[in-house]
Amino acid sequence: VERREAEVCIVGAGPAGLVVAHRLLDARVPFILVEQLGSSALSARAKAGMIEHRTVRALSPHGLAAPILEQGTTNGVTEICVDGERRAFDYAALTGGRGHHVYPQHRLVQAWADRLIERGGTLLFATRVTAIEQGAGRRPAPSSQAGCRVLGRSADGSPMEIDCRAVVLATGASAGLTPEGIESHEHTHPFRWLTAMVEMPPLGERTIYAAHRNGFAAHLRRSPSLTRYYLQIDARDNLGDWQGERLGAELELRLGVAGQGVIRGPFVERDVLDLRVRVCEPMQSGCVYLAGDAAHLITPAGGKGMNLAIMDGLELSEGLIERFGGHPARLERYSQARLPSIWRAQEFSNWMLTLFCGGVLEFHRAMPNPAASFARGLHRAQVERLFTDPAFARWFAHAYAGVEEAA
Ligand SMILES: Cc1cc2nc3c(=O)[nH]c(=O)nc-3n(C[C@H](O)[C@H](O)[C@H](O)COP(=O)(O)OP(=O)(O)OC[C@H]3O[C@@H](n4cnc5c(N)ncnc54)[C@H](O)[C@@H]3O)c2cc1C
Repeated sequence: VERREAEVCIVGAGPAGLVVAHRLLDARVPFILVEQLGSSALSARAKAGMIEHRTVRALSPHGLAAPILEQGTTNGVTEICVDGERRAFDYAALTGGRGHHVYPQHRLVQAWADRLIERGGTLLFATRVTAIEQGAGRRPAPSSQAGCRVLGRSADGSPMEIDCRAVVLATGASAGLTPEGIESHEHTHPFRWLTAMVEMPPLGERTIYAAHRNGFAAHLRRSPSLTRYYLQIDARDNLGDWQGERLGAELELRLGVAGQGVIRGPFVERDVLDLRVRVCEPMQSGCVYLAGDAAHLITPAGGKGMNLAIMDGLELSEGLIERFGGHPARLERYSQARLPSIWRAQEFSNWMLTLFCGGVLEFHRAMPNPAASFARGLHRAQVERLFTDPAFARWFAHAYAGVEEAA
């Protein structure tokens, strides 16, 4: 067995885990970051791209915003398309110019992982953590008497053990290692999204959200040569149901871009996403601290997940740094500090799904026509309010861009 020791073991090198690692390295708190994927597989996982202004502002003092600011773009206008008719909604104008930064998550993860290694941080690729034993190991935990032992296995099957004083569980959607004493609130929406990333220039500068009688669709810019699409599909559909021309034709119809050729390059990613949501309370148990999707899974509607993961990482790392400097109060309050904004983001994301997917509970292919058309009428009226009710438009712009009222 390969045995190692560190103050902190971070499990998962997504945005949450990498932010914690960089901050601990800044503060010289010894850590080991363990990632189950190999380096190239890690930086090929295309997911997010919409990064809030406040997230970039929080990353900047730590030198972590550089890839986004130097190579990313911005988005401040979204087109809202109802049954094929498109209208522009300038949310940056309503938030003092604070729209989104746009940069692909997989490139950010790659840049942060490369930088961590250059700076001398320990990142063990292709090593899967299989168990966390609390009350084991040689190091005392910050908030209890005993430390933690993290058990894992590298790609060649050899076992590994890390004795540490705190574990950051940043393992994304998989909930397998969640410790006892944490309650999970969860729900799965009754439809799915087909998600696709295509290597091609976007159709235009603007994000497009479409509320169509067939369901939701979206077009998002990720970079000058990467375009992201979402398509709401039935819960029983899978990728095989959307092969050939069918996906492109349906995207063109719902997005109101007939004849523009929405798929003009190879797929970088194509998947079917169950719209699962989850919040864990509290986000800590003994010496284990949850961060990012491991603590709260959110749908991509509203583009909040990576932003929350980064903000968790920043708050948790400050708590750990203070704790190892002899001040445990901030770490003890980690859950209380993060949960209110996590629930606000869940509420907004759920609201946005309701708005664009025609009523979360009502949507169903087998729904009787009068009920389906009533639900459509409601969501058309709601979309219309964005253009006729300034207070509603302002609220939406702030919540979507993640701009606090006081900011
Ligand atoms: C299609 C799509 C679009 C999205 N768009 C947006 C957007 O525009 N804006 C936004 O803010 N969010 C968006 N999100 C959400 C965002 O991608 C996630 O919230 C984000 O990846 C969470 O980061 P994380 O670090 O918590 O987890 P992850 O990125 O999932 O990273 C977890 C890491 O842990 C590793 N791991 C897991 N288990 C183990 C183990 N046992 N041992 C070792 N390693 C392990 C995994 O391999 C992975 O690398 C989107 C998500 C999807 C699916």
